[in-house]
Amino acid sequence: MAAYEQTPVENHRTSVTQHQNTADTRRVELLSAREVPLGGPRAMTVRRTLPQRERSLIGAWCFADHYGPDDVTATGGMDVAPHPHIGLQTASWLFNGEIEHRDSLGTHAMVRPGELNLMTAGHGISHSEVSTPDTTVLRGIQLWIALPDAHRDVAPAFRHHAPATIALDGGTARVFLGTLAGDTSPVPTYSPLLGAELVLEPGAHTTLAVDPTFEHGVLVDEGAVRVEDTLVPNAELGYLAPGGDTITLTNDASGPARLLLLGGAPFGEEIVMWWNFIGRSHEDIVAARADWEAGAERFGTVSDYPGNRLPAPELPNSRLKARGNRSPR
Ligand code: MN
Repeated sequence: MAAYEQTPVENHRTSVTQHQNTADTRRVELLSAREVPLGGPRAMTVRRTLPQRERSLIGAWCFADHYGPDDVTATGGMDVAPHPHIGLQTASWLFNGEIEHRDSLGTHAMVRPGELNLMTAGHGISHSEVSTPDTTVLRGIQLWIALPDAHRDVAPAFRHHAPATIALDGGTARVFLGTLAGDTSPVPTYSPLLGAELVLEPGAHTTLAVDPTFEHGVLVDEGAVRVEDTLVPNAELGYLAPGGDTITLTNDASGPARLLLLGGAPFGEEIVMWWNFIGRSHEDIVAARADWEAGAERFGTVSDYPGNRLPAPELPNSRLKARGNRSPR
């Protein structure tokens, strides 16, 4: 879901708050969300924390749309008609509700809370996403992972994985990609990555060992979490640069807190992101758009979606710009 338009982000002046670290704690940069309507007659609104003007990627994580809790009877839920992707993986992670996924590989899968659905677009795929009739509350996060140049043209694929819930000091975790707290996801990645859901008990104070070569992001879904010395409010993303081998999380509240911990080795490549495509050049995007509009074999066909596929928007008049992260500060 969740088409990405380059221009609004370029124009958006993001709010980035710097927090000085005290003696032994790591500095945390707060990235606040922008509210973005997904479109349609009863549009769902999502809270987008990636990409930002100040930060395009965390590792290969390049897109984060957080949504809900959404009363489906009021908003109509999610209904995203068939649309294409290239050069990325989509990772769907739900907290409440259920989404029916169909793609041009013939995959028909239910996206459910606590289960990873990882779709590799590679050379090209198309898919639809519709919340099921039984869904009353929809809440989750849609993430994109940029594929490194060496792998961005791989064959499309779909992978489902339901990670076990493991115990932490003061909470639990579900590690859906990479390694955390002694648990490793069996799902391979094309660059070094971490993705985990953490639930922290009231009063929990836990220190996690992390890869010091990774940069990390903490995206808070429920409650508020102190990351090192910085309070990361609900729906915001706390960013930590590479260089530390632990992250300390504290839940000062009287209720549980829930967050996603994302991490990865700095991506090191500039990408061009427009609509649902990731390439390396303006020409990559123009070609993908033309292929979709022409009904090219590259994107296949999604069966059993009751409606038309999404047309591509018009390209901007200016050339699309490459994005990457500036040097570490
Ligand atoms: Mn999509």
